[in-house]
Amino acid sequence: MSSTAEVVICGAGIAGISLAHQLARVHGMRRVVLIDERPPLTLTSDKSSEAYRNWWPGPDDSMIRLMNRSIDLLEELAEASGNRFLMNRRGYLWCTADPVRAEDYREHGLKAAAEGAGELRIHTGRMSDPDYRPHTADGWKDQPEGADLILEDMLLQQAFPYLGRDIFAALHTRRCGWLSGQQLGMELLERARAAGVEIVEGRVEAVETTGGRVSGVRISGRSGNRSFATGRFVDAAGPMLAEVARLLDVELPVFSELHLKTSFEDHLGVVPRDLPFLIWDDPRRLDWTPEEREALAESEATRRLTKTLPAGAHMRPEGRRHVLLLWPYHTGAVAETFPLEIPDEYTEICLRGLTRVLPGLEAYVERLPKPFVDGGYYTKTRENRPLACPLPVEGAFAHGALSGYGLMASSATAELCAAHITGATLPTYAPAFDLTRYEDPAYLARVESWGEDGQL
Ligand SMILES: Cc1cc2nc3c(=O)[nH]c(=O)nc-3n(C[C@H](O)[C@H](O)[C@H](O)COP(=O)(O)OP(=O)(O)OC[C@H]3O[C@@H](n4cnc5c(N)ncnc54)[C@H](O)[C@@H]3O)c2cc1C
Repeated sequence: MSSTAEVVICGAGIAGISLAHQLARVHGMRRVVLIDERPPLTLTSDKSSEAYRNWWPGPDDSMIRLMNRSIDLLEELAEASGNRFLMNRRGYLWCTADPVRAEDYREHGLKAAAEGAGELRIHTGRMSDPDYRPHTADGWKDQPEGADLILEDMLLQQAFPYLGRDIFAALHTRRCGWLSGQQLGMELLERARAAGVEIVEGRVEAVETTGGRVSGVRISGRSGNRSFATGRFVDAAGPMLAEVARLLDVELPVFSELHLKTSFEDHLGVVPRDLPFLIWDDPRRLDWTPEEREALAESEATRRLTKTLPAGAHMRPEGRRHVLLLWPYHTGAVAETFPLEIPDEYTEICLRGLTRVLPGLEAYVERLPKPFVDGGYYTKTRENRPLACPLPVEGAFAHGALSGYGLMASSATAELCAAHITGATLPTYAPAFDLTRYEDPAYLARVESWGEDGQL
C-alpha cells in the first residue's frame, strides 16, 4: 500500500510528537505522518525524571536561550491546557559542603545571569542582602527568576530544615521544576492528531532518494509493509538516531550513555513533599564497612563503588508518597541495547549518595525499600547540545541528541526543526544546534576546551 505525506517523522517520542504538533498546529501542514514501531512515548520519553531548568551556564548563551524559549512554550501550553501536565516551579537546589564549589556557584551564577538565566541574588546574612522568596509547591506562576545563592546557615536552616548540617552553600535556581512528561506528551499528541497528524505503527526500514533528495519511506509493521511518497523525512528516533540516519548514508556524531532512575514509596515519610529538585553536587566516597569494601573490590563490576564517585546524585518527591532517585555515577558510551542492564545495587548506591544532603534517607539504607528501577539512554553529541537541523541529503532532517533534557527542550527544538522544514525564519540560536557546526574548525577547537554543558 502506498500513500503520500508532506512530512514523515520517524519516532513518536517527545521529539517526534512535539515536531508533529508544530508542523500541524503552528504551520498548518495537512499530511504529517508519525511512524513508530512502539506505542507513543514508551521507549525513553516516559523514563525521564521530568525536570526542567533554564540553568545552563555554558561557554555561550545558546542553551540558556533555547531553554528559555522552550519553557516559554511549556508555560503557554500549561496555561492553555489548565496545567494538565502539572508543571511546577520549585526550582533546583544544588548543595555543596565545599567552599571552593560555593565560589564556582557565584562565578557560574554571574555568568548565567549575563547569558539570560536571570539575576543572581547572594544571601550572606547581611542587612543589605536581597530578600529570599521561598518556592511554592504547585503551579508555575509568580515565581522568582534567576537564582539565590544561600551562604548563610540560618537562612538555609529556615528554608530547608531537613538538609544535612554540613552543607556550606546551596544554589536555588528558580526557572526550574518538573512536570508530568506523559501528560505533556499526550496533550501534544492529542492536539497534533486533532490537527490531522496520522500515527502509523511500523518500523522505518528504508528512506528512498531520487536525484539526491528524499522521495519516499518504506516501513514494515504488524499489518504488513507500507510505503509513503514524501519529499521530507525527519529522523527523531531517540537512541536509534544514528542507526536511522545510516538509512540515508549519513553518519551522525552522537553516542549513548545508560541512565537509570529508581523510585519507591517513602513509607517512613522522610522526604518532604514540597522539596525542590535536590542535588548533591560534591563527589562522594561512600561509607562501607571493611567487609563490604573488600567484597565490592573483589568484582570488576562493583570495584568502582569503593572509589570516589562523581557529583550529581539527585532526587525529588513523586506524587503523594513516592520518591525518585538518580545518580549517573556509571556513565560512559555504550551500545543501545534493550532490555537495559540494571545493576542490583543501583537503589542502595543512590540512597547512600544522597544521605549527606538529606540525612533522613539513612533510615532506608539499613532496610532497603522495594524499588522500581528503569531508565534509558542519553543519546548526545560530544558537547551535549542537540541536533535540530537539515541533514546533508536534501529533504532530510534530524531532531534528536536530546540527551538528559528532551522533555524540557523539545518544545523549542521542535519549533526550530519545523522552521528548517517549512522555510520559516530561524531563531538566532539556530547555528548552535545545526550539524554544520562541526565543519567549523574554530568551533571544534573551542569545544575541546568546554567540557560538557550540564552534568545531570
Ligand atoms: C533516566 C532518565 C532521566 C531523564 N530525565 C530527564 C529530565 O529530568 N528532563 C528532561 O527534559 N529529560 C530527561 N531525560 C531525557 C529525555 O527522556 C529524552 O531526552 C527524551 O525522552 C528523548 O526523546 P526522543 O523522542 O528523542 O526519544 P524516544 O522517547 O526514545 O523516542 C524515539 C522513538 O523512535 C522510535 N524508533 C526508533 N527507530 C525507529 C524505526 N526505525 N522505526 C520506527 N520507530 C523507530 C522508538 O521506538 C521510540 O519510540 C531523561 C532520560 C533518562 C533516561
